[in-house]
Amino acid sequence: MKASDRCNAIKPLPTVVIKQKCAEMKAAGKDIIDLSIGDTDFMAPASLTQGVQKALENGKTHYTATTGIKELREELAERHKADFSEILVSVGGKEGVCSLFLAMVNEGDEVVFPEPAWPAYRAYSAMCGAEVKNIPTSVENNFEPTIDSLHENVSNKTKLVAINSPNNPTGASYQKEFIKAAAELADDYGFILLSDEIYSNYDYEERFVSARGMGENVVVLDGYSKTFAATGLRVCYLVGNKELIKQVNKIHAYNVGNAPSAVQYGVLGLYNEKKYMEKNHKEMKSRNDLVYDVLKETPGLEISKSKGAFYLFPKYSLNMSSVELCADILEQQEVGLVPGSAFGGEEHFRIAYSQPKHILEQGTKRINDYFEAKQ
Ligand code: PLP
Repeated sequence: MKASDRCNAIKPLPTVVIKQKCAEMKAAGKDIIDLSIGDTDFMAPASLTQGVQKALENGKTHYTATTGIKELREELAERHKADFSEILVSVGGKEGVCSLFLAMVNEGDEVVFPEPAWPAYRAYSAMCGAEVKNIPTSVENNFEPTIDSLHENVSNKTKLVAINSPNNPTGASYQKEFIKAAAELADDYGFILLSDEIYSNYDYEERFVSARGMGENVVVLDGYSKTFAATGLRVCYLVGNKELIKQVNKIHAYNVGNAPSAVQYGVLGLYNEKKYMEKNHKEMKSRNDLVYDVLKETPGLEISKSKGAFYLFPKYSLNMSSVELCADILEQQEVGLVPGSAFGGEEHFRIAYSQPKHILEQGTKRINDYFEAKQ
């Protein structure tokens, strides 16, 4: 049976497809090093796992308010200098962003974002029938968009601008001036500025600034997935003005009801785990150094050092598509990487350096060997 136009407008999530392929090859006995996944090997803090367990034992297995439990919304409101009515607890980051798009973006509206970008912005735009206007960024400028390029791309047709700093897949971190300009433009034109801050804990040059408080139309996405090694627990949140959150909650309530109840209780107080957050930050920073130090010497690669998140996005100069390149590296060197085209960045590939150092040492050596052999 034919799927809907909405479904046909999107492709399967590329990272999931590659992860699956790596898993199959591993199961067939291959010595695969999978650097394709945007997830860490870290353990979640004990306070989280114990908190979830305790919540389950206390019978927190029922529906909650669709917007999230009041205690959590109040705690997050304090963290973001907001009112609790401005918080929506979502089922991971994806559902929060998807519900925002479905609630606010119409067919024919324009959605603007710097590219290369997390593939979901393009997919959700397509699901809404919106036109995408991309702001190209490049390795030469550390993948940072300029304020001028933002001005050139927004208009009265713009409904939503999405920025993501620290960035997946480029590792870029945007300057405060850029974020501020985007928030001011959002107020001038009346579009939504989605500031995706899901990698806020992984910022290696102390550049990170939240867009929260920079304008009336700013919506922040943050959450527990990446910061607390909790990608599978599916709790993140949006912070935005009360009226907007009310609309997003309409979609969210029909689609998912509420975020997992025991997890909402389990994450209470987690942002007090400063030591845990610092330890992960420090470890990821040194992994960034390790990978960069090897690959910056690799012949045929152009690299901008990652300033945040846990990705590097090298540009290569071989005469093959990024899909062909990643398939070849997987075949020849048994390293899983994501083709740049998945993010709107052909002639690049993405490495996730969120794996332990001994794996990164082997993985980068194999990548290096591959490119050396091609010279
Ligand atoms: N935003 C960005 C930029 C991401 O890379 C991801 C996950 O990879 C998310 C949001 C959402 O994460 P999740 O749905 O796993 O919470």
